[in-house]
Amino acid sequence: MGLNIIVLVKQVPDTQNITQEAMKPDGTVNRDALPAIFNPEDLHALEEAIKIKETLGGMVTVITMGPPKAVEVLKESMYRGSDDVILLSDKKFAGADTLATSYALKCAVQTVGEFDLVLCGGQAIDGDTGQVGPQLSEKLNINQLTSICDIREVTESEIIGFRATEQGYEKVKSGFPALLTVSSEANEPRSPSAKKVMAYKNIQCSEQQAYDESYLDNKCARDAMIVKQWNIDSIGADPEKCGLSGSWTQVKKIENVVLAASEAKQIENSDEGISSLIKELTQEHIIG
Ligand SMILES: Cc1cc2nc3c(=O)[nH]c(=O)nc-3n(C[C@H](O)[C@H](O)[C@H](O)COP(=O)(O)OP(=O)(O)OC[C@H]3O[C@@H](n4cnc5c(N)ncnc54)[C@H](O)[C@@H]3O)c2cc1C
Repeated sequence: MGLNIIVLVKQVPDTQNITQEAMKPDGTVNRDALPAIFNPEDLHALEEAIKIKETLGGMVTVITMGPPKAVEVLKESMYRGSDDVILLSDKKFAGADTLATSYALKCAVQTVGEFDLVLCGGQAIDGDTGQVGPQLSEKLNINQLTSICDIREVTESEIIGFRATEQGYEKVKSGFPALLTVSSEANEPRSPSAKKVMAYKNIQCSEQQAYDESYLDNKCARDAMIVKQWNIDSIGADPEKCGLSGSWTQVKKIENVVLAASEAKQIENSDEGISSLIKELTQEHIIG
């Protein structure tokens, strides 16, 4: 039998390599100036899904909402072992805040049909709100297990894991369906399989194919696999709840903040030095 698992992954700008051109004068992100990567925590969510499939059988479907070039994260998902991928792409999704994003993803998940688990990363490194997973579980009306750092046991009927909290770890258990947000502590994502890279490297979306002028003369492109692409109509979404019109929040202003060390303190490498440091940190409520 196995489990039907849906993994949500996002293509994000590589925020570790921010340059001056990263922001446009109007305060929006200049996505073209930054390399696009697989959101790091989503690789951990995908790894968990594939591990569960390897143990229990079933099917792993990966969904991303983004522009046509987001097909790259879907290819990467196929290289690592997913069974099916869906690109959710429509100009009407543009400018979505987290509410509009989680609404579109909810419609997409319901369009996939029966599922047991939805796995997300905890946070995307660009928007960085950590809201999409919990909002999605609310909209799907299913249990949410957040900040999962260790999936201990999965059976055909339940999942048991540990979630990291500020105080330590909590053991949590849920039946299905459930949504999990997975943290980077959970696993070490596998490398792409060379065999799968050869099999799926030509996957593209229909827009890419239409704009590829060399398409008709190019054997690779002719043999390309077209990724499953859904728009607002395919998922039966209400346009008023998508993109800018479905977004209740707006970014008014963005400022560059340069963090500079204002004060440095030398701690003596002795028992007295360390105990005075601990005392100070406790008084400042940084520890304790
Ligand atoms: C006030 C506000 C205004 C914004 N305006 C714009 C805008 O005008 N244009 C714009 O491009 N962006 C905009 N954004 C960013 C956009 O809303 C977010 O990128 C998006 O809603 C996801 O939120 P997040 O990045 O915080 O994801 P998080 O909640 O941090 O992501 C958690 C997890 O959810 C899943 N997930 C998140 N997004 C996707 C996705 N697209 N597809 C599949 N899975 C996903 C992933 O598994 C991810 O690890 C705005 C954000 C905010 C807060």
